[in-house]
Amino acid sequence: MRVIQILVDLTDTPRGLFHVDVQLPVRPDSTATFTTPLWIQESHRDNGPISSIAGLFFSAGERTLPWRRNPKAVSEYLVDIPAGVDTISATFDAIVTRFLTRRLTFLSWENALLYPAHRDVRKLAIQASITIPPTWGLSTSLENLGTPAVTHSADGGAKTFSYLPCSVERLEDSPALAGLYHSEHQVTSDGRHILCLAADTEEYTSPPQEVLGGLARLAEQTQAVFGARHYDRYRWLVALSEHIPQHGGGEHHDSTQIMMPLKGFADPKERGNYVQVLSHEYVHSWNGKYRRPAGHCPSDFATPLDGRLLWVYEGLSMYYQDVLCVRSGLRTPDGYREEVATIAAWVEGRAGKAWRSLEDTGAGSSLRVGTAWSNWMRGLDYYEEGLVLWLDVDTLIRSRSDNKRSLDDFAKPFFGREITTSPVVVPYTLGDVVSALNEVMPYDWQGFFQAKALDVAPQADLDGIERAGYRLVYCDQPEGTELREPERVTKSAIWHGLGIALGDEGVLADVRRYGPADRAGLAPRQKIAKVGDSEFSLENLVEEIRSKSGDGGGDPVRLTMVHEDDEWVVEIDYHGGMRFPRLVRQDGKPDLFQGILEKRDVAGMAEVL
Ligand SMILES: [Zn+2]
Repeated sequence: MRVIQILVDLTDTPRGLFHVDVQLPVRPDSTATFTTPLWIQESHRDNGPISSIAGLFFSAGERTLPWRRNPKAVSEYLVDIPAGVDTISATFDAIVTRFLTRRLTFLSWENALLYPAHRDVRKLAIQASITIPPTWGLSTSLENLGTPAVTHSADGGAKTFSYLPCSVERLEDSPALAGLYHSEHQVTSDGRHILCLAADTEEYTSPPQEVLGGLARLAEQTQAVFGARHYDRYRWLVALSEHIPQHGGGEHHDSTQIMMPLKGFADPKERGNYVQVLSHEYVHSWNGKYRRPAGHCPSDFATPLDGRLLWVYEGLSMYYQDVLCVRSGLRTPDGYREEVATIAAWVEGRAGKAWRSLEDTGAGSSLRVGTAWSNWMRGLDYYEEGLVLWLDVDTLIRSRSDNKRSLDDFAKPFFGREITTSPVVVPYTLGDVVSALNEVMPYDWQGFFQAKALDVAPQADLDGIERAGYRLVYCDQPEGTELREPERVTKSAIWHGLGIALGDEGVLADVRRYGPADRAGLAPRQKIAKVGDSEFSLENLVEEIRSKSGDGGGDPVRLTMVHEDDEWVVEIDYHGGMRFPRLVRQDGKPDLFQGILEKRDVAGMAEVL
């Protein structure tokens, strides 16, 4: 098989351009079709780079070859290959704004890939090179293939790393982090886990020792759950910047790309939130990458992904991300319970559960809804709702087995499969999940998932919380909230009560369908001008809600609303006060969270791994 060669030049990053040069083997005297990726696994949708390409030229030697687009598949380019030509080059600029600043960037290969349209494109051989400014550093799991060759340009203005060939699948799964201020830190003493950083300033490329120690324990505790790993070396690639528009992470088999605020590690409060992202993406190495729903394993990037099992792929990763953070000492048990209360309340307030199933939020994962009425429409609910569902599963196994078995006993054979390998993909179906759970504890798991995930289930699944010995309640005052912004916590207590999501300056971002505000006729985009007789402020609104609650009830909450050219007074018949979610212990019931959050014994693990 002849090898595609791709060179991506990142030296124009400050201007938002990646220059791409691809050498493509072709058949002489034929019409060749080239394409770019469409369905991207880690975003679970068809958001490939088709609309971010400029300056595309195909050529054979000195000769430019005309191209035409397939009008019925807009990511396909058709080129007539002259006789005697067996390799052509394609050059283009990829315009990528989401992942870059002037001083650092992520190269996500799907943004730079162009290849022959081919049924088995993921298996095609490709050799990649990356060019960066000479003062920059570069990290990528492509280094797991072997040490790259490094060459310097004649004028000294660039250096190029050339990696050993791999499959298109492996390349697409191996993003690169490049930056002026760049560092790499060994996390575990065996050198298998590496934290790679690029930051706006040099100061932030040295992570606090707690972060490295915490990640080492996270690696240990995660492998204790899964038993075997499916990578040679794992890299957390983390960009720390004030200039990246969107924070978050993306999973890959032996690395992850994570975008955090500049002080994401340095500020303990920020760190408390972002360690969950590092944990979540790491769990995906097993759940989502090694084991993957069969509908997420097409042989090309053109076949639509079937997202129906995202409540396993993302939901179970959500469940383990928090549990593993506590087992690793990166979060406290109190913080964990606060998180579960917050998420369970969020699920309970999801009006759209009345008409869409959890499974359907995965099947429709490529849909993107705006903020207005988003609670009624539902969005990517398989994350949060998946967490409470898998808590239900874990507590069910624990309580019925007298605490002798747990979800870990499912996770180990299912996601680890007791044999350490390099990155490979092992697909699964819902039937496989059901059989594996039956091995741990015989039960009607098919019926369980049918009722809770596949069918429309309007009520939130709080069985896991109840079985763990707790109850979700709503209180007049917040508790703890060591990690979340007080304003956000206050706004969510208004959401759970009055039923409005407040944006900035009194504008309603969303209204909970069938909640008090909805019954009073309020709608997203309307703005609260006055609360009672006072100008709008969050404090005044909280005061108004409290003064009309409980015994002070009777009088409605009175708001003056404005929208476009209209102003009117609305009276909301609501007396439930502020509603801060909280988990409270149920007397006499065993506390199953103790076992769930308990550190796993890692002694002897080195032999397994
Ligand atoms: Zn995820």
